[in-house]
Amino acid sequence: MAEQKKQSYDVIVVGSGASGGWACKRLAEAGLKVALLEAGRPQSDKNFTEHKPLFELKYRNKASEIIRKTRPIQIKFGVCNEYTYNWFVNDLEEPYTTPADKPFNWMGRLRMTGGRTNVWGRVSLRFSDWDFKSASHDGFGEDWPLGYKDIEPYYDLVEKYVGITGSAEGLEHLPDGQFQPPVPLTCQETLFRNRVKEKLGRTVMPARTANLTKPLNGRGPCHYCGPCERGCMTHSYFNSAFTTVADALATGNCSLISNAMVHKVLMDPDRDRARGVLYVDRITRQSREISARVVILCAQSQESVRILLNSATPQYSNGLANSSGVLGHYLTAHVRSGGGSGEFPALGAKTSLGAPVKPLGIYIARFRNLRNDPPYKKFLRGFGYEGASSTKFNWGAPGFGEAYKKALREPRTSIDITGFGEVLPRWDNFVELDPAVKDVYGIPVLKIHMSDGENERAMIQDMGDSAGEMLEAAGAKNIRTYAHPSAPRWALHEAGIARMGSDPKKSVLNQFQQSHDVKNLFVMDASGFTSNPCQNPTLTIMSLAVRSCDYLMSELKRNSI
Ligand SMILES: Cc1cc2nc3c(=O)[nH]c(=O)nc-3n(C[C@H](O)[C@H](O)[C@H](O)COP(=O)(O)OP(=O)(O)OC[C@H]3O[C@@H](n4cnc5c(N)ncnc54)[C@H](O)[C@@H]3O)c2cc1C
Ligand code: SF4
Repeated sequence: MAEQKKQSYDVIVVGSGASGGWACKRLAEAGLKVALLEAGRPQSDKNFTEHKPLFELKYRNKASEIIRKTRPIQIKFGVCNEYTYNWFVNDLEEPYTTPADKPFNWMGRLRMTGGRTNVWGRVSLRFSDWDFKSASHDGFGEDWPLGYKDIEPYYDLVEKYVGITGSAEGLEHLPDGQFQPPVPLTCQETLFRNRVKEKLGRTVMPARTANLTKPLNGRGPCHYCGPCERGCMTHSYFNSAFTTVADALATGNCSLISNAMVHKVLMDPDRDRARGVLYVDRITRQSREISARVVILCAQSQESVRILLNSATPQYSNGLANSSGVLGHYLTAHVRSGGGSGEFPALGAKTSLGAPVKPLGIYIARFRNLRNDPPYKKFLRGFGYEGASSTKFNWGAPGFGEAYKKALREPRTSIDITGFGEVLPRWDNFVELDPAVKDVYGIPVLKIHMSDGENERAMIQDMGDSAGEMLEAAGAKNIRTYAHPSAPRWALHEAGIARMGSDPKKSVLNQFQQSHDVKNLFVMDASGFTSNPCQNPTLTIMSLAVRSCDYLMSELKRNSI
């Protein structure tokens, strides 16, 4: 095993994405010495291609079979394409397994500084007590060990730094935040919003997203070029690589160790304490150790839990910090296979191939199972919709020659909406180590067991039906709806497999994402979520990470870690 250059660190942070970026920034700016271990390569503005035209690409982004040879899973989501594919994990070198009857697409596995925030959709929504205390409302699962008032100041802090555009709507279950001005709605979005409110009482709003409309900390406002998932030279959307991680590095207190694939947390044999981590250098394939007073895992839910399962000791034989036995269980990830689209021919604008592109659209707030409504009979909890309008050439027009050219220019003005629904945390959705398979670095991989239950199936059906109802209320034509079973399950918003709770017998972490068992071990990504409400998770991931870092620093001051 190679010797790590002797340097003394207070904290090791594993992973530089949404959670890890904030952990490094908060701790390094407070003066702690931080080692940031990131499995991926360093990110740089030089890699950003948002303005690069297709014709400059070798295969014009048409040869997906070439990408499929190394990234057969990642390519299933459009953000992994000829521009970006080498930011993503090589699925063959770093596989996972599933039972034959429970296929699962684990997408968005990035191997770059910034993790998933390089390519994320940026929708940023607060949770409310309707979410944190959902078990008290409907009796399913467990309440979170914290409430809205505990996290509210951290939502404010994170939003002001990240830069979230949005409009105040005054909804109890989707609290307003510290918004930059929203991007105005298009004509069809405005009409849709007004009619849906008037006829059905549901709230449609400009999407709340991490795209700047005003300058912030040296970052420029968005200039509407469109493909944020290819990077952004003006840093107008939020990516940890050029925001939180850059700030942490600028303090001089944080060292970024790239290509460092963490294998396990190392324990002090004499005390119930973590002493560091073992990692594999992805370039040299050598194993290395690094030590610190505190270890924080921020590698994304499944990756962090994989590290804990791989860190079993004689005392914690079924996974480190797992005296409760719940580590790996209660995997959740949103369902999003119901929705619809409709056309608004009367609003046809002139089409253009070079027009500005809004990188965000609309959000429809949850409208099922809320206070003052009788419980919805078909399922528990609820869903929201993400959507967008577009005006496109009618490429599929019939005919040819002059007639086709004319028909092609008839604009297709439409709205598409897709539901994002809560998945109930169930014991039988879980991850474990696959004893038969290792990745290319010799690290045992995960076997993921996940499928939908009755609740999810009923919710998906309602996503399709309600999409049709709203499009009809808005007067759309050619309405098409869908509600597919979500198999294979696919995931971008996974959470819950090292859940927080007040009772150490039923949870892995306390409300500050600190292990109940090993006091100097924290897991600050979404693994700790006690449930996974329908709102996108990342704003809450980041806000919780900052809150937990503040707690960690107060505990260090008290010498109680
Ligand atoms: C296409 C897409 C769209 C999305 N859209 C939205 C959205 O609109 N709104 C929203 O809220 N969320 C969205 N998400 C989810 C969001 O990106 C994640 O919730 C968020 O980035 C998770 O943060 P994290 O810190 O847990 O993990 P990540 O941001 O993924 O960072 C984890 C980092 O850890 C590193 N790592 C992993 N394993 C190891 C290891 N063993 N050793 C060292 N390093 C390791 C990875 O390389 C990675 O850089 C989207 C995700 C994707 C992929
Ligand atoms: S649309 Fe805006 S945020 Fe996205 S890449 Fe272009 S300038 Fe950046």
